[in-house]
Amino acid sequence: MVVTSHPAASKVGAQVWRQGGNAVDAAVAIQFSLNVTEPMMSGIGGGGFMIVYNQKSGDISIVDSRERAPAGAEPDMFLDEKGEPIPFRERHTHGNAVGVPGTLKGLETALDRWGTKPLSDLIQPAIRLADNGVKVNGVLADAIEENQWKLSGTATKEVFLPGGEPLQEGDRLVQRDLANTFRQIATQGADALYRGEIGEAIAETVQAYGGSMTVDDLARYQVTWDKPIRGTYKGYEIAGMPPPSSGGITVLQILKLLEEKNVGSYDSLSWEKYHLLAEANHLAYADRGAYIGDPEFVNVPQQGLLHPDYIRERAAGISMDRANPDVEPGDPWKYQEKEEPSPTVEQKDPKPIGQTTHFTVADRWGNLVSYTTTIEQVFGSGIMAPGTGIMLNNELTDFDATPGGPNEVQPGKRPMSSMSPTIVLKDGQPILTVGSPGGPTIINSIYQTILNVLEYDMELKQAIEEPRIYTSQYPTIRWEEGIAKEVQQAMEAKGHQFESSPRPIGNVQAIRIDPNTGLYHGAADSTREGMAIGIGGRR
Ligand code: GLU
Repeated sequence: MVVTSHPAASKVGAQVWRQGGNAVDAAVAIQFSLNVTEPMMSGIGGGGFMIVYNQKSGDISIVDSRERAPAGAEPDMFLDEKGEPIPFRERHTHGNAVGVPGTLKGLETALDRWGTKPLSDLIQPAIRLADNGVKVNGVLADAIEENQWKLSGTATKEVFLPGGEPLQEGDRLVQRDLANTFRQIATQGADALYRGEIGEAIAETVQAYGGSMTVDDLARYQVTWDKPIRGTYKGYEIAGMPPPSSGGITVLQILKLLEEKNVGSYDSLSWEKYHLLAEANHLAYADRGAYIGDPEFVNVPQQGLLHPDYIRERAAGISMDRANPDVEPGDPWKYQEKEEPSPTVEQKDPKPIGQTTHFTVADRWGNLVSYTTTIEQVFGSGIMAPGTGIMLNNELTDFDATPGGPNEVQPGKRPMSSMSPTIVLKDGQPILTVGSPGGPTIINSIYQTILNVLEYDMELKQAIEEPRIYTSQYPTIRWEEGIAKEVQQAMEAKGHQFESSPRPIGNVQAIRIDPNTGLYHGAADSTREGMAIGIGGRR
């Protein structure tokens, strides 16, 4: 089973199955292909989190290829002379926003460990797609249209605005420079970027846009091997993404709060359920902002945040009578060995929500990959090193602009993420993979899909399409179509405020594994042109 947000990338994954490849082989080929077919969402100019379930050992491991701040990065680099955050539009298109990219190193590392096919083979379908061109779909056409301002100032102009006009739906997007870059990678491996000419071009361009990245930063870049953070919802085990992502902890915290409040006793479309979701969100997002950062640099009170007594203490503050207007972070340090808590710094400058991509695969042997991969905003920083075809990320704007807290900029550090590739298990056997893009909304897309499957017993596709909400702070609620007016009114009577119109939240790709038959069931979110392809029968 392969599920991605683009049909051409799903087909590339299916082709790897036909050639006998395993889940990691497929994931590598898919990532290169998504770089071509969804160039605004992910690629080797960015970073990501790949969770791998190894069927033979039963182990779950993570290749963390999150971008890092270069050695020249400074805590106040996103502030102006008056000490105010530089407006996001300017901040995220500056060279300072570009993190040292990790994706290519991550792919190579995963392949070295688990792959059965050489990178030089797995990159070929992407080279063909880049050379021959891919049909521009509605998602890409809209992205180009909306980001013309960002694309017209850099080498991206010739790729996405040929002759000065934005590519339209149905046009062909040809990326010859990217194809050439991939050919160099096919022969030289990741060193072509981390220690070669491609890296030189990247460092030079980032500096031309005011950033500090050097070829040494690229040569020094390291991925990490991580173990998932684990917790339970009822009888199920959830393996999620640990810091520097906030994803795993926050998803688990919210699910535990909802379990405590017995959310399943309310109908899935009822005001009571959505009210509980909103209240649990506010509690968990307050803690997220206060305590989570890169664990190589700050102590994150992981045990405390998920301690059953702490969850009970926080859940006791949730009332069915009203929305709590004054949610503060709690004190998780009380529930674990005391360490020096990091100070909290309020961020006055909320940033727009990014949209990148998630895909998942399950091979014939039962190995699974759940992989969220990003260049942060749509088209990242908008910066492309001339001649490389690589879209560079703006991941460093995931750091706090105002320094002082656990997520302040420091050299070599990774910004806090929300990406939450997840695997759910029952009795030690995986039964669900799930993930989504969407910046901080990701956490909501993940736990709501999990709840719909585990608690509300929905079919996978329905679980994905069921209307979601997103809220991180009292009182505003972003919502998807399908939440009845009466439900909204009942919640507004408690103090919540719904945005005036619905908007899609995230783009979930997921696989369900039937524990009895081993049959895979894949489903893609309808907010993009996603496609699930299953090959063969039972494993
Ligand atoms: N930069 C975002 C994060 O790491 C990801 C953006 C997205 O996937 O939508 O949380």
